[in-house]
Amino acid sequence: MSEQRVVPVNTPLLSGNEKKYILECIDTGWISSEGEFIKQFETQFAAYIGMNHGIAVSNGSAALDIAIQALNLAAGDEVIMPTFTIISPALSIVRAGATPVLVDCDPATWNMDVHQIEAKITPKTKAILVVHIYGLPVDMDPVLQLCKKYNLKLVEDAAEMHGQTYNGKKCGSFGDISIFSFYPNKHITSGEGGMLLTNDVTLSERCKKLRNLAFEPGRRFIHHELGWNYRMTNMQAAIGLAQLENIDKHLVKKREIGNYYNHRFKNLGGVQLPVPQTAYAENIYWVYAMVAPTEERCQILVQELGKMNIGTRPFFWCMHEQPVFQKMGLFKNERYPNSEKIARNGFYLPSGLGLSQADLEFVADKFISIAS
Ligand SMILES: *Cc1c(COP(=O)(O)O)cnc(C)c1O
Repeated sequence: MSEQRVVPVNTPLLSGNEKKYILECIDTGWISSEGEFIKQFETQFAAYIGMNHGIAVSNGSAALDIAIQALNLAAGDEVIMPTFTIISPALSIVRAGATPVLVDCDPATWNMDVHQIEAKITPKTKAILVVHIYGLPVDMDPVLQLCKKYNLKLVEDAAEMHGQTYNGKKCGSFGDISIFSFYPNKHITSGEGGMLLTNDVTLSERCKKLRNLAFEPGRRFIHHELGWNYRMTNMQAAIGLAQLENIDKHLVKKREIGNYYNHRFKNLGGVQLPVPQTAYAENIYWVYAMVAPTEERCQILVQELGKMNIGTRPFFWCMHEQPVFQKMGLFKNERYPNSEKIARNGFYLPSGLGLSQADLEFVADKFISIAS
């Protein structure tokens, strides 16, 4: 009998100079947040995206904390963001004492429906925070127009969007501040890790200060504001740099996985597949995500896959339905039907960079047999 096949929802691919660079950290003793790899990773990642300054941090959520803090929001200030996303951006806004104002998603791309933003703008609105979801970017032109018209800052959460473009321009190059994550399921990883990008040197200096306990350039240990220790280590940056050397290969592989599943499932019916392309971008399939027609159907599909040791994840849960925010009195009686539906009915298949061709075919075969 053959050994039981297990396909986790994500496996990273560490096939380049990761080991070599890590050993260099150990051999030279540069293991903390000082070291050449950090500078190189910041410079090269910023250049890759097309921004002037990169500030490496401990993870993507930390990058969002710093990005929001750098906006100098006051209590009652509002930041417009999607309800369908990971909690990190909402956490950062709430912790800064400001108020997240939510927008529903587009049912096809699952990204913020940008045509619903303007109705949410008030005199208290200070910024728009866009989150590119699952592999396709937000439709940026209407957002950029609103930012200009109402003099709003733009924060871009490009944590899932390394190398993706919007009308040929890299995601992460639109925001006054943009952030990335290098968690192991992202297109490039540093184990844990994140980065802020900006073209504004003053903003860059402020982000660097906030990542390092808000130390002042003058007398050390005297502080004028609250910062964090959100520093990235040289070892994380060593892995990140090695990954960055292979980013184009990673993008090709992710698209191959997405296109393969799309091709195999095209006649399946009954489940909504990811959109391969829009007018402004080709999907990079951060994850291979699908939406079932009902919550029950979604649960059955996920359970059946689980019985075959195929890992899945449910979709994000809407911000307006988060118990933690409801307890705080936020988003009372708000409804966002498109997001509520996909949050309940959506899930994704194994689609990590370390997925073998045999595992990919196995997952596709099993999914077809379950879903037919
Ligand atoms: C992964 C992710 C984050 C958080 O990144 P961490 O490094 O895990 O903290 C933030 N935003 C989005 C959209 C993400 O997908």
